[in-house]
Amino acid sequence: MNESHSNNVKVFLFEVFKEKEYTFGGEIILIDQPYQEQQLDMNGSMRKVWIFPVKLKEHSWHVPYEVIEEVEEKKDKKAKKLSNEELEKKAKLSSNKPSRRNTLSASVFIRNSYVKEIAHRKANGQCQLCKQYAPFQDKHGKPFLEIHHIDWLSSGGQDSIENAVALCPNCHRKMHIVNDYSNVVELKQIASVRSYKQGLVVRVIYQSGRRLACVPLK
Ligand SMILES: [Zn+2]
Ligand SMILES: [Zn+2]
Repeated sequence: MNESHSNNVKVFLFEVFKEKEYTFGGEIILIDQPYQEQQLDMNGSMRKVWIFPVKLKEHSWHVPYEVIEEVEEKKDKKAKKLSNEELEKKAKLSSNKPSRRNTLSASVFIRNSYVKEIAHRKANGQCQLCKQYAPFQDKHGKPFLEIHHIDWLSSGGQDSIENAVALCPNCHRKMHIVNDYSNVVELKQIASVRSYKQGLVVRVIYQSGRRLACVPLK
């Protein structure tokens, strides 16, 4: 791998998205010096790994979007089962650099499931900008909020706890169209707060998936 520049040996990428299934990723080339980094292994202990900065050669095979979505969903499910402490630990130990994947249609970012889940827990069903409860429930009956990276990933923003918030679809669009500076400052402040709400202060009533009313508890 290290000498692939000079020895003319072609290097191909095979990735494991599903257990025991190898997806052919195409020919890759080394784009920077290899370096060492601390990373978590399968059992959650730190180990030193070699990182080879590579990229797919142009016109190589691309990963279908559905495969990426499926993998992300699986990771999200796992993250939901962790405690707040476990989530924070894993989120902090993960690389803040989002991984980019080329799909047939567009290049998408794979976002850290731990970071997403932490934002959802902190929001607890309530948009972190307008403070309204989610406008509808998703197919699992959970209040629907979208994860937004305050400094956009596409502009080099980090996939970290401090840079992620959960927003209602309206506010999410607003942040991508207007991106008002005062909102950015406010959201950064909110994202940096380390507190998990202890249950809802109001109960949101949904009927056929849409928000019907908010009833204060007590
Ligand atoms: Zn909102
Ligand atoms: Zn966003």
